[in-house]
Amino acid sequence: MKPKTRKKLALLDLQDGKCYWCSQKIWIDATIDHIVPQSRGGTDDPSNLALACVKCNNVKSNSTPEEFVRHILGIFTGFLQSPGFIKVRQEARNVQVQP
Ligand SMILES: [Zn+2]
Repeated sequence: MKPKTRKKLALLDLQDGKCYWCSQKIWIDATIDHIVPQSRGGTDDPSNLALACVKCNNVKSNSTPEEFVRHILGIFTGFLQSPGFIKVRQEARNVQVQP
């Protein structure tokens, strides 16, 4: 088994099979994320490594954890006020539940 695969399996176990950032179920195809990016002074120490889904890792890119969380919260706050979200929520409320 390659060292990278062994590292991923250890992280998968540590994170209960979930993405470090979004908690979605992930598998071995997930990516190893440097929590603090190496380009921002992060190290290869195990305490700085997490397994993340490809989507989260792509969005996080070279952001620090603080920048990434601020970015996601900004999107989420805007999302809750968006016409698209409000329309879907209203339609969901109008769906009659069959007894
Ligand atoms: Zn994720």
